[in-house]
Formats: sequence, structure tokens, C-alpha cells
Amino acid sequence: MSWLIKGARPLGGPASDILIEGTQIVEVTESGRSVLDIGAPDEVSVIDAEGLIALPGLVALHTHLREPGREDAETVETGTRAAALGGYTAVHAMANTEPVADTAGVVEQVWRLGQQAGYCDVRPVGAVTVGLGGRQLAELGAMADSAASVRVFSDDGFCVADPLLMRRALEYVKAFDGVIAQHAQEPRLTEGAQLNEGEVASRLGLAGWPAAAEEAIIARDCLLAAHVGSALHVCHVSTAGSVEIIRWAKSKGWQVTAEVTPHHLLLTDDLAQGYDPVFKVNPPLRTRADVAALRAGLADGTIDCVATDHAPHPVEAKETEWAAAANGMTGLETALRVVQLAMVDTGLLDWAGVADRMSARPAAIGRLTGHGQPIAPGCPANLTLYDPHKPPEKVDPATHASKSRNSPFAGMALPGRVHATFLRGVPTVLDGKVTR
Ligand SMILES: [Zn+2]
Repeated sequence: MSWLIKGARPLGGPASDILIEGTQIVEVTESGRSVLDIGAPDEVSVIDAEGLIALPGLVALHTHLREPGREDAETVETGTRAAALGGYTAVHAMANTEPVADTAGVVEQVWRLGQQAGYCDVRPVGAVTVGLGGRQLAELGAMADSAASVRVFSDDGFCVADPLLMRRALEYVKAFDGVIAQHAQEPRLTEGAQLNEGEVASRLGLAGWPAAAEEAIIARDCLLAAHVGSALHVCHVSTAGSVEIIRWAKSKGWQVTAEVTPHHLLLTDDLAQGYDPVFKVNPPLRTRADVAALRAGLADGTIDCVATDHAPHPVEAKETEWAAAANGMTGLETALRVVQLAMVDTGLLDWAGVADRMSARPAAIGRLTGHGQPIAPGCPANLTLYDPHKPPEKVDPATHASKSRNSPFAGMALPGRVHATFLRGVPTVLDGKVTR
């Protein structure tokens, strides 16, 4: 099967025609010099992509697909369908499933479910410690050697708080070029924490989650990663101080990378004032100053990538009183639109920058081959066509493919629309709808 995408703008550059044959991009030619003129096959489906931006298929470094165990919230199939609709061609699935993905058996199960669903490449993240218990290293080598070829390990949801265990994990994954993705949260400083420690939490009478609890762990782990010469990835950076620490670690040449979520790029703790738990997340929404620092850090490359931390929850887990509600927000279907609003429309990042922060860099951090590559002949045809000119439209989670509805952007007008997603030359999404 061949596809001719006519008039799309790769990374926001000049309008071009992109010819896909089989699983690969075979021609990219500036419009006016049509690839058809230089010999395209007869059997070709044409997409009129005038005005659309072509990006390499997005890579999600941090999602919770909930299977096995919490299929009431999400399955690999529904989560990857949501991802494809958001423009993603690869997703990493976090280990906090039931059972926990801490053995070769469970990570292979998740990997196979991804293959069966067929919407995205699914790369399981392995747990760092047995049962996410923080006491004993999991079988990191066995997960790396498994069919799932795990390279990213994380106890996300929990922090690997024990510094000696963190050191051992960093040392262990060096053998196979792995990376430890840390959920940075000093547990003693955040017992019972409900919201960013500050003015809003005080006014609402909610227990505070201090920025220092994140920053202390990030600083410690940067030092450990440098000491043992291993790779640290910092999950969902949420404070201005964290950005400063990571900037310092990078200036030393240490192997430290970091991600920020769409919600931390756009939302603040002010939203908690109505006590609506849809805004409850871990780490919590922070202040305006933090949002500005996160945007600046993403723009200058201190923060490597945008990762959704897509965290679906069933209605009963979220529609309850604030203190009892689960942490987490869905995000796969809105991420690119939020990034347009927060980063592109503000002039902080161009589309080449978006491709770097949402595809190339997360693919490199996740040790993924075949994703995050240029839109160029000889590269796998993993790409996304995005319409940035679609007027802002209110987000309605009821229309989402995710099994869960806990989007903090519900009712907010976001610009843009994902028009199509191709996974190795096969459209998973066309005209904004899944193809099957
Ligand atoms: Zn986390």
C-alpha cells in the first residue's frame, strides 16, 4: 500500500509531498515538484494535507495503561487507541499494574497486548523494586533480556527513596544501557500531602506537598548518577527549583534527562479552589512561577521532553471528596493541543522543537529504534499530521477513546486537531478517527 501526503509542512517547513511505500518514507519533495512527476506508483492513496504540520510519530515516555489488573480504568487497547488519536506511535507503559510489572512474565504480557492491539508500539517500563515496595531490586536483567527488551525502569507512583537501593539500580542498568526513571518525592516530607505547599493549600486547609520534597530527591539522584556514571531520567518535573538543579547537572555533563507533563505546563494550584479532584495529581499542580520556569526549561532544552503521565481512573476514584480521590489525569488525546497552546502559540517553541521534545528526545531516552526519526526518505513511516489552525474547541472527555474521563482540560478550549497518524506506513488514525 502506498500513500501520497500532499502539501504537508514537515516540522512546519515548506509545503511538501511525502510518499510512503510499504513501511517506509521513500520521497519527500517540496510541493510544486510533485513526487508523482518523478515516478510514483499507480496504486496510491492521496491525502490532501495542505496547511497540516507533519511531525514524526509522537513518543510517550510515561503512561499508565492499567492492564493487567485495572481494566476498569484502561486497557492496553483503549490506551493505545487514545494514544494514536493523540498522534502517538509509541508509548511506554508504567509498571504499577496489578500484578506489578516486576518480572519478565508481566512485561512480556504487556508487550504482547500492545502488539495485538496494533495502534502503537508498546514498551513496558519495568519496576525498579519488587512489588514497587522499595526494599529489594526487581529482576532488572531478566526484564531487559525478555522479549519486551525493557530499558526504562521506574517505581513511578512511588519514589525509590532508599539512596543505597537507588545507587544499586543505577549501577545495575549500566550493563545494558538502561535508565532509571525516578518519581522524585521524598516520602517523609510528603506524608498525607494533598496539594502544592503554599498559599492556596493553606487557604483550603489541605496538607502541603513542598517543592523541596521533589528537589531534594532530584539533587541526590543527579549526584548518584554522576558518581556511578549511569543514566537518570527525572519524571514529571514540577517546580522551578527542579529545573535549576537539572540545568546544573547537565552543565556538568552528567547523564540526566527530564520530562514535564502537559498539565504542569498549563495549569496551576489555583484550580483546586473548587475542590474538584479532577485537578488532583502527583506531583501536584504548582504556581504560576513554576509553570513559567517549566516552559522556559522545556524551551531551552533543560527539560528534554513532554510526557503525558496519562493516568486514567474510574469515575468512583475521582468523583469523591478531595482527600479520598486518586491522583492522576488523562492526557494522551490532548497533549499536542496543550503543547501548541502553552509552547507554540506563545512563541517559545517552533514545530521542529515540538518534534524534538515530543518524538526524537523521548525516543532516545526510551532507547527506541524506529521512532523519533526525521521525515526523510529511508526512515520508517511513523508520522503524525496535525492541523494547528483548527479553531479552539472545548475538550469533551465523553468523546475520548480512553476508558476514563478524568481530563483536567474538560470544558477548556484547546486549539488544533490531530488529523492522521501513521504507524510504519499504516494509518491508525485518518481524518481524526481511528481506522478500525
Ligand atoms: Zn509519578
